[in-house]
Amino acid sequence: EHAAMNPEEIERLLAFDREHVWHPYGPMPGAVDNHPVVAAEGVRLVLADGRTLIDGMSSWWAAVHGYRHPVLDAAVADQIGRMSHVMFGGLTHPPAVRLASLLVDLTPEPLTKVFFADSGSVSVEVAIKMALQYQRALGRPERHRLFTVRGGYHGDTFADMSVCDPVNGMHHLFTGVLPRQIFASPPPGGYADEPDPAYLDELASLAARHSGEIAAIIAEPVVQGAGGMRFYSPAYLRALRDLADEHGVPLILDEIATGFGRSGTFWGADHAGVVPDIMCVGKALTGGYLTMAATLCTSEIARVISEGEGGGLMHGPTFMANPLAASVACASLELLTGRDGRGRDWRAEVSAISAVLEDGLAETRGLPGVRDTRVLGAIGVIETVEPVDVPAIQKITMSHGVWLRPFRNLIYTMPPYVCTPDEVARITEAMVAAARSL
Ligand code: PLP
Repeated sequence: EHAAMNPEEIERLLAFDREHVWHPYGPMPGAVDNHPVVAAEGVRLVLADGRTLIDGMSSWWAAVHGYRHPVLDAAVADQIGRMSHVMFGGLTHPPAVRLASLLVDLTPEPLTKVFFADSGSVSVEVAIKMALQYQRALGRPERHRLFTVRGGYHGDTFADMSVCDPVNGMHHLFTGVLPRQIFASPPPGGYADEPDPAYLDELASLAARHSGEIAAIIAEPVVQGAGGMRFYSPAYLRALRDLADEHGVPLILDEIATGFGRSGTFWGADHAGVVPDIMCVGKALTGGYLTMAATLCTSEIARVISEGEGGGLMHGPTFMANPLAASVACASLELLTGRDGRGRDWRAEVSAISAVLEDGLAETRGLPGVRDTRVLGAIGVIETVEPVDVPAIQKITMSHGVWLRPFRNLIYTMPPYVCTPDEVARITEAMVAAARSL
């Protein structure tokens, strides 16, 4: 029913795409063909040639309800009938206020103030600005550096890149021109491993050494996502919380990837019982429908910033609090939490997916090309010994009817929560086939 394209149309589209359209982290002209997709429905992508693929990526971890969800479609359609967008300077609107109220409700109690950003990267940028403006307003402008752990990923803007890994990571090209931040080693071991006392000492002594210049501590809770799909001990997150308290600086948690149930708890920080002072959410916020993220902070941080120089937070994007995005985000959160009365239960969905991932991926442990296989919540990861040939792996998974996008030495899935056990098993079969090919 979805107009598949004929081979000539597909070739024309691909030729122009290759020659003129940048893709993420890609060269220009493109080095490989991207796969044209013409529709998406449920958990499946419909390709231009008519094939369908289970989306094991949830569109970069966002489409937790799958595609064309009737409730989400209706939320967008209803809002289009009112207004698609209005500026947020001097105006406000019901979808933004409703979404802010849901976020204040769903996040830990001290987080009461909501800044709407237009992407995850921008929400981290805003969090960093909050920390810097906060310190400045307290009369401590020398506290302008971020303390973090290597191996994280927080986005692609300049401030974001500076807290990822400017030396070993994907942004090393910018080493030398980024703000110089303070880095501890990557958290050692896995989620369930005993915390390493030597590492806890390293965190503490590094923070002590730089105490007077730290503006805030920033980290992804428990899962370092795009930086390497590492799961680390909740004890390290508690240690970061303690350090933030000890040094009197805010703890910023980037829940963009982990938020909304992905790691098995509603917030990644719930694994550790930790509450941040500033928190970033994005990706699944709108169920993957539209681009929107948010930065939340405590009343105290908001007060200090607002009473400081400038009298407010120095940020205000054109598309801030876009009403379509806010409406679909409200619908998505209501669906996710069962507040719309439809009885969905993210916890049951994620734990069912987790069990199938555990089961299905177990046989990859010990394969010659596999270094580690790990599962946390609805995240399944095969870490390979060597970097993978991405197109070759994708060819295998696509022949199993599954879309994945491996990177470096990681073949992983973050499926939509609405995947059935059979669909998740299809994904693990594709991953096993990929791992066996190594
Ligand atoms: N922070 C984390 C933890 C992420 O995983 C990402 C995206 O992968 C970002 C920030 C950046 O978000 P966006 O791609 O929406 O700018």
